[in-house]
Amino acid sequence: MVNCPLCGRLATVLVRGQCAQCLREEHAQLRRVQEFIREHGSATAEEVASQTGVPVERVLRWLREGRLVVAGEAVRCRRCGRPVRLGVLCAVCRVELAVAVRQLQEALRSGPQPVPQPKRRRVRREPVPGRFDLW
Ligand SMILES: [Zn+2]
Ligand SMILES: [Zn+2]
Repeated sequence: MVNCPLCGRLATVLVRGQCAQCLREEHAQLRRVQEFIREHGSATAEEVASQTGVPVERVLRWLREGRLVVAGEAVRCRRCGRPVRLGVLCAVCRVELAVAVRQLQEALRSGPQPVPQPKRRRVRREPVPGRFDLW
């Protein structure tokens, strides 16, 4: 008997370094992640992890091991055409895009702010009614 290094349960045999219970759990998580990617398509490993509650290291490991295949491996970066494992942009373009967005935000923040002009309410003067002069 051995102790499972993940949950500490006693197991007769460890598969991939974990007990049958943990293995089942991992399978369920993997299924959940696959479902999420099928539904949402574009997502980063971090997004997938936070949305499914699966640790991001685990998602990345599945990708490394080829157990998590995203859209049949035929995903290309929308910007440069490099093969993408997860999401719609490759790592390079993601970084470039993040930098571009930050620069844009900074430019917007430091740029001249248009001063809102207070709208003047035009006062309409009623014409003074002509007085009747009885004399
Ligand atoms: Zn276990
Ligand atoms: Zn790219």
